[in-house]
Amino acid sequence: SDFRPSDFERLAILGRGNGGTVYKVSHRGTSALYALKVLRGAEPAAVAEADIACRVDSPYIVRCHSVLPTASDDVSLLLELMEGGSLDSLVVGHGGLPEGAVAEVAAQVLSGLAYLRSRRVVHRDIKPANILVSRAGQVKLADFGIASVVSRAGEHCAAYEGTPAYMSPERFDTERLQDGHADRADPYAADVWNLGVTVIELVTGRYPMLPPGQTPSWPALMWAVCFGEPPALPDGVASPELRGFVAACLQKDHRKRATAVELLAHPFVAGRDVASSRRALRKVIQLRCS
Ligand code: ADP
Repeated sequence: SDFRPSDFERLAILGRGNGGTVYKVSHRGTSALYALKVLRGAEPAAVAEADIACRVDSPYIVRCHSVLPTASDDVSLLLELMEGGSLDSLVVGHGGLPEGAVAEVAAQVLSGLAYLRSRRVVHRDIKPANILVSRAGQVKLADFGIASVVSRAGEHCAAYEGTPAYMSPERFDTERLQDGHADRADPYAADVWNLGVTVIELVTGRYPMLPPGQTPSWPALMWAVCFGEPPALPDGVASPELRGFVAACLQKDHRKRATAVELLAHPFVAGRDVASSRRALRKVIQLRCS
């Protein structure tokens, strides 16, 4: 469509990240609300993000309505507004989420990942800050800032500038190995690892890879992820189904890790009471976001 930047009034800042700034905006003509993500500079990364964000089309992924033309080099993505914000803001300062709500989040994130795989896209930055919710309890993946498209031959761009805190063991290997070896790992398996870390964080309300208070530096994380046991749920806080689900996501050997499609059939997800899980999630969103 032919939206222009001047068609929108900036109402508030929704978030700031590495890529740029996200504003809540209203369309002057229709009063419809959107999120506008402004990426600074015509860097290849901004162009790649816009390209992937606009060609994916799924109810489990934040819709990109258009890329607005700008006079400067900035790239402006007009996005569907997710008025519940990100999952990290639901958890930080509030503690963990009830298991039913987590099962609903997992089901919808897995549907998004299964869709992305069908489009040969690896997200590579699945974490609570990049999972957005609507007030109605819809869960959608956001931020294709470091996503990549897997070629027919199976290789993908190995460059990594994202969030090391959620990186899988094979991603660290990719960092250490030369280019020739870098692409052998199943690229889609990394997103499943990140989901496992994310699920523990949602259940406990705390980032699980490092002891409380330790800053997630690159060496500390690499040590913990590559040489430590996979993160696990504390005793007594989770059902056997949830424990099994997390263990299936956090297989250190990516060849043994379940795929998104397999995990959609896992009892934690497939066996949930859909109506009560959705209710639990909606309740959390309504209570915790102002
Ligand atoms: P970056 O790539 O800079 O990290 P993100 O796309 O992750 O930017 O957005 C940063 C933050 O802005 C998110 O964590 C979220 O809180 C908010 N945000 C981003 N997109 C939307 C949206 N479509 N609706 C509502 N909030 C959003």
